[in-house]
Amino acid sequence: MPDSYQDPRTRLSRRTLMRGTAATLGLAVGGGGLLGAGTAHAAASFYNPFTAYEITGTWQEHIDRGSLGGIDFGMGVGTELPAAGGGTVTNIPENGTGGHTVTIQHDNGYRTQYMHLSEFLLSDGAAVGTGGVVGRSGGEPGAPGSGSSTGPHVHWHMTDPGGARIDPLAFLGGSGSGGALPKTGTEQDGVPGVVMWQRAQKWLSVESGYTGPVDGRPGEQTYAALQRNVRDHYGYTGPIDGAPGHSTWSGVQRLAAEYGYTGPVDGVMGANSWRGFARFLNKDRWD
Ligand SMILES: [Zn+2]
Repeated sequence: MPDSYQDPRTRLSRRTLMRGTAATLGLAVGGGGLLGAGTAHAAASFYNPFTAYEITGTWQEHIDRGSLGGIDFGMGVGTELPAAGGGTVTNIPENGTGGHTVTIQHDNGYRTQYMHLSEFLLSDGAAVGTGGVVGRSGGEPGAPGSGSSTGPHVHWHMTDPGGARIDPLAFLGGSGSGGALPKTGTEQDGVPGVVMWQRAQKWLSVESGYTGPVDGRPGEQTYAALQRNVRDHYGYTGPIDGAPGHSTWSGVQRLAAEYGYTGPVDGVMGANSWRGFARFLNKDRWD
């Protein structure tokens, strides 16, 4: 039994409590400004508003053609675009190839962006709840706001709190199921195991484009995604070849250092390096 398990109901109630506190503070500080009770409530939930539409461009297809990533859903011009999660709206007209772009800043630090709109429906700074309509889709080639679009659709991507673009469907898959993965005991025993790697794979699917199975058996794909993450956030400058060496693990140790690891950054993963890494992976986000 290498892995301890924390009752998810305990965590849920604590989170709910914290959310309630934050909402109260927000209302007090904001003095009844942009943050209303609806916003605070909406921050708790994200969903895919576009399940009824066909995916006409996958995340990987975006990457393959040199895009930073996104999901395209084919839909007629003028279709209402509901917010995937609550937050504060910013409209960016003529955002380069993205055309008319709406940004929703969520309370958890993540952002949603929809591109190629034909019409904005909310003003800058407006609060929107989950499912609130922020605009209408566009994408007709050459139409105002379409940017580089070659046919009617909405393009959706998210960014993480560090600003890196992430796959919204992976984000939903990685955080929407509530307690699907147990915590890893690696945080206590310093020995990497299946659950630790499952949590790592879930993390990497959300943040670094990992599309393989969450099976806890790291292979080339897992390691390549790990290298992309430490390249983007932890100073790794080596190749993305799925074959981690000392410099990859040094990046992981720099991550671990943010979670209590105080040993050397020497690329040699010992028990304390794994403990710090596991402390990060045990965040509720990667359940
Ligand atoms: Zn797109």
